[in-house]
Amino acid sequence: MKTNVEAGGAEPAEVIDTSKMNEGKRQALELAESSREAAGQVPSFVGQLFMGRLPWELIDPYPEPTAEDRAAGDDFLARLDAFLRTHTDPDAIDRDGEIPQEVMDGLAALGAFGIKIPTAYGGLGLSQVTYSRAAMLLGSHCGNLTALLSAHQSIGVPQPLLVFGTDDQKRRYLPRVAAGELSAFALTEVGVGSDPARMQTHAEPTADGQHFVLNGEKLWCTNGTRAGVMVVMARTPPKVVNGKERNQITAFIVEATMPGVSVVHRCRFMGLRALYNGVIRFENVKVPRENILLAEGKGLRVALTTLNTGRLTLPSACVGLSKRCLGIVRRWAGAREQWGAVIGKHAAIADKIARLAADTFAMEAMTLLTAALVDRHQTDIRLEAAMCKMWGTERAWRIVDDTMQIRGGRGYETADSLRARGEAPIAVERFMRDSRINLIFEGSSEIMRLFIAREALDPHLKLGGAALNPKLPVATRLAAGARAAVFYAGWYVRQWVGWVGGGRGAGMHPALRRHARYAEATSRRLARALFHAMLRHGPKLEREQVLLGRLVDIGTDVFAIAATCARAQSLVDGGHGEEALALADVFCRDSRGRVEEAFRASAHNTDHARYRLAREVLEGKFTWLEDGILAPGA
Ligand SMILES: Cc1cc2nc3c(=O)[nH]c(=O)nc-3n(C[C@H](O)[C@H](O)[C@H](O)COP(=O)(O)OP(=O)(O)OC[C@H]3O[C@@H](n4cnc5c(N)ncnc54)[C@H](O)[C@@H]3O)c2cc1C
Repeated sequence: MKTNVEAGGAEPAEVIDTSKMNEGKRQALELAESSREAAGQVPSFVGQLFMGRLPWELIDPYPEPTAEDRAAGDDFLARLDAFLRTHTDPDAIDRDGEIPQEVMDGLAALGAFGIKIPTAYGGLGLSQVTYSRAAMLLGSHCGNLTALLSAHQSIGVPQPLLVFGTDDQKRRYLPRVAAGELSAFALTEVGVGSDPARMQTHAEPTADGQHFVLNGEKLWCTNGTRAGVMVVMARTPPKVVNGKERNQITAFIVEATMPGVSVVHRCRFMGLRALYNGVIRFENVKVPRENILLAEGKGLRVALTTLNTGRLTLPSACVGLSKRCLGIVRRWAGAREQWGAVIGKHAAIADKIARLAADTFAMEAMTLLTAALVDRHQTDIRLEAAMCKMWGTERAWRIVDDTMQIRGGRGYETADSLRARGEAPIAVERFMRDSRINLIFEGSSEIMRLFIAREALDPHLKLGGAALNPKLPVATRLAAGARAAVFYAGWYVRQWVGWVGGGRGAGMHPALRRHARYAEATSRRLARALFHAMLRHGPKLEREQVLLGRLVDIGTDVFAIAATCARAQSLVDGGHGEEALALADVFCRDSRGRVEEAFRASAHNTDHARYRLAREVLEGKFTWLEDGILAPGA
């Protein structure tokens, strides 16, 4: 199927009505568009899902690592596991707000700072699947160590250098960072969170063009207070493209020892108390031109592409955390007696345990699947990774919350306090403090939903957007309309009758088959819903965030069902699938319930009333509702 159907050369930024956007929003959109990663050769599973087709051939049989990769990974993971057990104390790290130097040195000796860096540059040269499994191990144990290693190699210098670095840059920096020199990624500023177009940090070329002079301040730079080297995003002089002035953002490799780089403040947080995170100032820092990553003006592409795969680390860590919670809950709910029975036998608690187990199974299925697709190198995984990040972090947060509820008062008590009065030091409250940020950084849940929605709509915008855009000349709109009509005439019918030759259900275990077929039918229903929404709202659909969010959630559940079925089938084929079938069945049935509810809410909701109410709240109409409280500084 051609999802990226030729759209007569119309760029998305032209088919979206940007005329009524404020300057910042327009620039943000154009920057994001120009920075979009070139799609992989094989169209994305999820991208096709939103167009009404489930390409099972990409995920079923469930992709497993090669025996060689697994053996190399198992060896490293066994050593990492042993080190974490014997040499690290996550509660002490949390209490002290510092990671002991011996732990840093030990991790470096294991090669944990260069898991994916090729051996030629001093790394371990392991796969994305192994890296994800390492994140699982770390996530089950210590949020601070997870963040340290993840910020270093998922978004810090190694990842963008591996993708975009020149041979010279790789030779200069990869051996250093693989050996344990900390790296960081500096994008955020006080005025720049989710929207990088407003970036203030800037870099001007010197007269001879050999250097750039960097000035500005970056906020919340993880590892920044101890990093030897970092990737810094900065605005560089605008360029005129097609007669229009275009903002440029450029990615620089900056060394902490360069004159003018200073740590202004170490930030402290609710959790992740040993994060080496800070405000980093750049004052007239002379950065050599050869330290530009990719090219001048391509910084956002570097940042966004880095995050495309970098984003998989957090959900992998969430899988580890969820497995840890499952173990805690299993032991506690099976032992703690109240009201004449172990609490796990009370239906309200049993319900949480079942959901926790089923969600953990699905989360692992989605995440390892996407990691395996990364290793295959042919598939565009941006949407899968974004879904894993959004869904995995949100589910894990709920899992930690349920675990706290099941542990009761002990869930709220610190590990140190539990230990002091002779009970097992189970740190659920630390897990909760450490995991909340996962829904915010590396692309917040809201931004993930917008990103996924934007990509889901992309084929439609390319096909139909120009026809619906009143700002374009009539002839352009008519030509676009004719092209769109040809495509949609066949496509729309298929969304009702299904794809000839499509359908994976037949080869699956009967318990999975009905869910696989539901996923296929739902993909078509979702494609129709998106299409109808396009017709109804036209180019303004992008503003309907709540509606789009529901459709994204449906798409995510369909992906989750498909990944779960594929993984369960692989376990069935391997001869030990009974338990997998039980987990998959409960997960898929719950997921289907969520999907049906989201479709229902798409048709019947209070979205606009709530939007109006929120506007009125912001206008101060209900300040009387805040009476009767202490509100310092209000
Ligand atoms: C512990 C920690 C570590 C971090 N590490 C790094 C790092 O290493 N490097 C780095 O560069 N940054 C880092 N960050 C920054 C982090 O990535 C940002 O916090 C994140 O991008 C969100 O930006 P913001 O906090 O300014 O929120 P804002 O962008 O101000 O957003 C506030 C809220 O509004 C929502 N929102 C924003 N725009 C929209 C929209 N268009 N539609 C709907 N909702 C929207 C957001 O989802 C969020 O809920 C870190 C932050 C923390 C707290």
